Amino acid sequence: MALLEVNDLKTYFQTDDGIVKAVDGVSFSVEKGKTLGIVGESGSGKSVTCLTIMGLNSKKNTITSGEALFNGENLLTAGSRRLREIRGNDIAMIFQDPMTSLNPVHSIGAQLVEAVQLHRDVSKKVARARAVELLKAVGIPRAERRVDDYPHQFSGGMRQRVMIAMALVNDPDLLIADEPTTALDVTTQAQIMNLIKRLQDDFGSAIIVITHDLGVVAEAADDVLVMYAAEVAEQAPVEKLFNRPFHPYTWGLLGSLPRLDIEVERLVQIPGQPPSLLRPPSGCRFHPRCPYVMDKCKQVDPPLVAISDDSDHLQACHLDEETKDREAKKLLESTMAQAS
Ligand code: SF4
Repeated sequence: MALLEVNDLKTYFQTDDGIVKAVDGVSFSVEKGKTLGIVGESGSGKSVTCLTIMGLNSKKNTITSGEALFNGENLLTAGSRRLREIRGNDIAMIFQDPMTSLNPVHSIGAQLVEAVQLHRDVSKKVARARAVELLKAVGIPRAERRVDDYPHQFSGGMRQRVMIAMALVNDPDLLIADEPTTALDVTTQAQIMNLIKRLQDDFGSAIIVITHDLGVVAEAADDVLVMYAAEVAEQAPVEKLFNRPFHPYTWGLLGSLPRLDIEVERLVQIPGQPPSLLRPPSGCRFHPRCPYVMDKCKQVDPPLVAISDDSDHLQACHLDEETKDREAKKLLESTMAQAS
């Protein structure tokens, strides 16, 4: 059984201007010890998907449907007390900006001790020892001394390490990392992703990494969900997605990926902007930006279906498979030619 199984998840927000369909029929599963990367541009619904699973959307004006089965228990129908128990104990989240998630007026140690004692009936001394142990695990040097420092005394990368320590306080089964490296420089990004991978091996947690960066996905994920305008555009194990990408939006993301091994004059940009989720385009939501658009695309929303010779690889696009294979091959050959 999958640790987390999400079926036909929908999250709609009622606003004065109408209903915003922020997540519209998303399904996926995450196995124990595995990493799922959810990738897409801002506003694609990737963060709202995870906030819905965690029960962190405002109840007011939010309509949620579908299932999010965590160890068989539907989180969408769980009460708020049960959700509080699960959050922190079984599922933890690392947010993008640690400075806004840490309390600037309390020391790191006080915040970690509070997090430990919130979920465990232990003395302050034991909780403090756990705090120091976790700071060491995430690579904070001189953890015994630094535990009494305040958030502003840490660099951005170190603060993100502290947030990871906070998330690991109770050995969660599932860790959700929302753009965990976006605010960091490239070297620190690599260190933080390596740290998350190492901790996954040590703690055996499953991880969902939310990112706009396919590079992070290539490094960290076992499986990938590409989201566009609140829907899944493509879904596959990571090697399959990179070796045989099957959706024009994924081609766009791959084409706009900076590469250190290739000298590229200009990165290819996906034209246009992601659509408003208040009034998404008819048919395929990607059609106003898609270079392969056909008449049918403007009228019929393509279903998410497996490609004919691989049941693990799903995609939602009306193009025929021959064209997709040809275009994917062209894209991969051109990047390889530039690399050689
Ligand atoms: Fe492009 Fe049509 Fe495929 Fe949508 S369905 S991605 S518009 S070709």
